[in-house]
Amino acid sequence: GYTDKPIVGPNYMETEQIIKAFNALLRRMKVLDDSRQEFVSNVSHELKTPITSIKILADSLLAQEDVPNEVYREFMSDIGSEIDREDKIINDLLALVKMDKTSAGLAITEVDVVSLTESVLKRMRPIARKHNIELTLESKRAITAEIDEVKISLLIMNLVENAIKYNKDNGWVRVTLDADHQFFYTTVEDSGMGIPESSLDHIYERFYRVDKSRSREIGGTGLGLSIARNVVIMHRGSIDVKSTLGEGTTFTVKIPLSSVGTK
Ligand code: ADP
Repeated sequence: GYTDKPIVGPNYMETEQIIKAFNALLRRMKVLDDSRQEFVSNVSHELKTPITSIKILADSLLAQEDVPNEVYREFMSDIGSEIDREDKIINDLLALVKMDKTSAGLAITEVDVVSLTESVLKRMRPIARKHNIELTLESKRAITAEIDEVKISLLIMNLVENAIKYNKDNGWVRVTLDADHQFFYTTVEDSGMGIPESSLDHIYERFYRVDKSRSREIGGTGLGLSIARNVVIMHRGSIDVKSTLGEGTTFTVKIPLSSVGTK
C-alpha cells in the first residue's frame, strides 16, 4: 500500500512553530497598519494647518470694516504664503506616494551626472544668495550613470535645499561628485546647525523634524529626506549622514552606475 508519511503531520513541534510564525505575521501586520494610520493622521494634520491659518486670516479681514491698505496687503501676503506651503506639502506627498521603493517605477536613461548636478545647483543659487550662503560644486571626474534623471535631481535638490535652509548666515554648502568603477558618490556638506545625535535615526521618517516650529518657519514639510531616501532605495544605493551639532552636516549618497535591477 501507500506508505509515504504526510509532509506536515500532526507533530506537536511543527504546530507550535506554525502558531509562532502566524503570531509574528500578525504582529508585523499590526505594525504596518499602525504606521499607515499614523501616516494618514499626519497627512491630515499637515494639510489642515495651512487651511486653518488661511481661514483665520480671511475671517479676521472680513470682520474689519475699513481695512487700511497695508494691513490688507499684509494679510493677503500671509494668505499667499500659506497657500505656497500647502502647495509644497501636496507636491512632496505626491512625489512620495509615487515612489514604491522598487526599481520598477524608474525611468532609466544614461545621464551625465555632473551636468545634472550643475543644473540642480543653478536652480538653488537664488535661494543660496538670499541666505548669503556660498554654494560650490567640485567634481573629480566625468560621470555618466544609468539613473532616473528626475528622481536623482529631486534627491540632490532636497539635500542641497536642507543644507541651505539649516545653515547659518554667511555659511557655505559644498557639493562634491566622485565615482569608481561601480558607483558614483555625491556628498552635500554644510556649515550649518547640525543634527542632534538622538535625531539621526529619525530624520528619514515621514514628517519628522528636529525642531518643528523652526522647520515650519523655514518652510519644511518634513518629507524631503523621506523622498531622498526612497529615491536612493529605488536605485539600490545608500545614504549616510554625519553631523556635528553647531558645526555642520554631511550627507553622502552612493548610487550604482548602471542598470538598476535588470542585470
Ligand atoms: P524638512 O522639510 O523639515 O526640511 P526633511 O525631511 O528634509 O524635512 O528633514 C527632516 C529634518 O532633518 C529637518 O526638519 C531638519 O530638522 C533636519 N535636517 C535635514 N537636513 C539638515 C541639515 N543639512 N542640517 C541640519 N538639520 C537638517
